Amino acid sequence: MPALQRAEATVRARLLEVRGYTVHLDLTRGPERFGSTTVIRFGCAEPGSDSFVDLEPAALHRAVLNGQPLDVTALDGNRLALPGLRAENELLIDAEMRYSRTGEGLHRYTDPADDAVYLYATCGPDLAAKVFACFDQPDLKAPITLTATAPDDWTLVSNGAPVKSEGGRWEFVATKPISTYLFTVVAGPLHSVYGEHDGIPLGLHARRSLAAELDREAPELFEVTAASFDRLHELFDERYPFGEYHQAFVPEFNWGAMENPGCVVFRDEMLFRSPATEAEHERRAMVVCHEMAHMWFGDLVTMRWWDDLWLNESFAEMLGYRIAAESTRFTGTWTGFSVQRKGWGYDADQRASTHPVAGNGTRSVAEAMVNFDGISYAKGASALRQLVAWLGDEAFFAGLNAYFADHLYGNAELPDFLAALAAASGRDVHGWAESWLRTSGVDTLRAETERAADGALTALTVVNEGERPHLIEVGGYRVEDGRVVPAGRAAVELGPGRRVAVPALVEAGAQLVVPNDGDLTWAKIRLDAHSWRLVTESLSAVEDDVTRAVLWAHARDLVRDAELDPAAYLGLMERHLPAENVDSIVEAVLTFAHVHVVGRHLTGARRTEGLAAISRTARALLAGDSSDGIRLAALRAAVETSGGERQLAELRGWLTGESVPAGLAIGPELRWAGLARLASLGELDEPQIAAELAREPGTEAEFGAARCRAALPGSATKAAAWQDLFTPDAMSNRVLEATARGFWTSGSEDEMGAYALRYFERIGEAAHRGDIISRLLGETLYPVAHATPEVLGAAEHALAGAELTPSLRRNLADCTDDLRRTRAVRAAFE
Ligand SMILES: [Zn+2]
Repeated sequence: MPALQRAEATVRARLLEVRGYTVHLDLTRGPERFGSTTVIRFGCAEPGSDSFVDLEPAALHRAVLNGQPLDVTALDGNRLALPGLRAENELLIDAEMRYSRTGEGLHRYTDPADDAVYLYATCGPDLAAKVFACFDQPDLKAPITLTATAPDDWTLVSNGAPVKSEGGRWEFVATKPISTYLFTVVAGPLHSVYGEHDGIPLGLHARRSLAAELDREAPELFEVTAASFDRLHELFDERYPFGEYHQAFVPEFNWGAMENPGCVVFRDEMLFRSPATEAEHERRAMVVCHEMAHMWFGDLVTMRWWDDLWLNESFAEMLGYRIAAESTRFTGTWTGFSVQRKGWGYDADQRASTHPVAGNGTRSVAEAMVNFDGISYAKGASALRQLVAWLGDEAFFAGLNAYFADHLYGNAELPDFLAALAAASGRDVHGWAESWLRTSGVDTLRAETERAADGALTALTVVNEGERPHLIEVGGYRVEDGRVVPAGRAAVELGPGRRVAVPALVEAGAQLVVPNDGDLTWAKIRLDAHSWRLVTESLSAVEDDVTRAVLWAHARDLVRDAELDPAAYLGLMERHLPAENVDSIVEAVLTFAHVHVVGRHLTGARRTEGLAAISRTARALLAGDSSDGIRLAALRAAVETSGGERQLAELRGWLTGESVPAGLAIGPELRWAGLARLASLGELDEPQIAAELAREPGTEAEFGAARCRAALPGSATKAAAWQDLFTPDAMSNRVLEATARGFWTSGSEDEMGAYALRYFERIGEAAHRGDIISRLLGETLYPVAHATPEVLGAAEHALAGAELTPSLRRNLADCTDDLRRTRAVRAAFE
């Protein structure tokens, strides 16, 4: 049965009004299945009509509608027809459901550290029917009352507060009306830390084996949570509406986090088993704030249908960065946004699959899945920053508060949001929305200069080559004695297609000119040639963090557009990164250099030299006096690019704790990254991997060993990894991901080139393995480095096939776009 179509959802929403769900889960039925009994009370606006309920049971024992048994064999895929509805109805469904190993539905995980079992439910976007029978669409909200039976020593956490727990029997209060995709329950012998802020009970939860990490991180997590609540309560009239606020860190989670009201779920890598950089703490704080913003955007007021996904994600994204920057010690989040997060969005917005931020025409939930992308997050948040810059905070938040007041516990669409903002501001918000939210693609803002013979600026014009209005700042700088000194900043309003002269910066004697300085808008920039030359000479001498972030992001963009030799990017890195003092910039540059420049764009001797350049840069950072966070990022890059006898001996030393750079430590994650590097170079064998796995069993070891095994060169090991990747249910989601990450890191050009071609013969099979596995196979396993005409041909042939699901097609099409880009870069510079 295909995923729910928008047209079907519209009919069902008009017909039904759900009064409430009563759900009982029996979690004591063994490792494969759990019991799920649901009573749904609902009204029907047109008595006599038919409808259907969503459920994906392993076994459907009983279905009773208004006292009349329904034929359970009539279950059609994941739908059961409900004939002849009355004005008020009661439906009982008694079923058994399957536990998930892919993070879709009720995921079951056995902790390799101590064999303890944990469960958590992921219901978004349309997975709730894997947990309980329901009308699974965002605009049929209802209170959910959960009871559960579980092993005696388990703790359960869910959206509602627990009211009773004894002898493994749990009862929770009814939730406020929520969408089904927001239901969750987390269960197992959890370790918990409790707190309270401003009358809101707080809880943090994790696996028992992460108790020390949770205890260590709890103060920072509580501090960020409390600061974020305070700021949200200043900004919004409506207080946090969902009672208690729990944050659970769970294993094998597919996303960063999920905003279930009252019980947010995070991937438990965020508890940092290994030392973490400041940028990682900063990103975690941003995610905590992002999920809290969702309590209003998404949970209290929810998009009616998935085509307005931006009403959830763009707002949470913008507020996540803003609140972390304004209210926590992580004041530099916007720098990370500029240099890391936006790249994800710019890449997406320049592919063939780009779409408008809002109202993107999504017909089915399957299509919606693929729009959880850099456009719905980074671009939408950038568009909202432009809107705030244009309207001002006061009008913007007045509009938002009116919007919340009108749609409390309900659903909304783009026009509702625009109407509220227009009323509050008196401005032409609809015109703004047409150009910013209803269009796709990136505008380019170009600086055009005239200069005297000595390079002095005599005229400056900024040109908007795009179709949207931009409110930006243009920065002017002078270079004096190797320092880059601000000469002035000018606010410029650039209408579509407009050219605007900026005499102020000429008068100020600016030499280096940076359009979109401060990064207020969503646009590519192009500098004049003289300014770019100054950047290559003096980038690290620019004082402002965001300006440097904008310039590093610009260099990245030039590489991707085949306007800058990727080797020249590495030259910029080697010259300027050792002096960089912002963690997120160091991470972003080293990652782009490794994954894109060396991993894709360079070949042969240029690739070898590129890897050496990253290795030298990393070691220069390690030898310098940078912060521990930056040196940790450098150590990671040094580990992953180690080569040659001397460096490998050094790497082996680090892994045994010898000569580890001062102030740093090798945690499990870095240890396994080092082992994977050794494995890919043929410097590790299977018995050594097995011994490492036994040394300190745990999640990192499980994932790390999978990555190492796939990274081993040799036809037998490659064949074994390949076989596992394409065998349904052979691995959990995250073990499969680790295997995919290791697979392409070794092997001869000929052997792996042949696998790249075979990939496109097999990839259609992924269509039958659910969205998560098909995303991992369609994206993480895609042979990005093999940008040959044959591989491109095979990719295009696969895309022409009819068998692909929307998400698999989108992943393959996007990766194929990137493959073409790599081919263009190579053609330009090799
Ligand atoms: Zn979100």
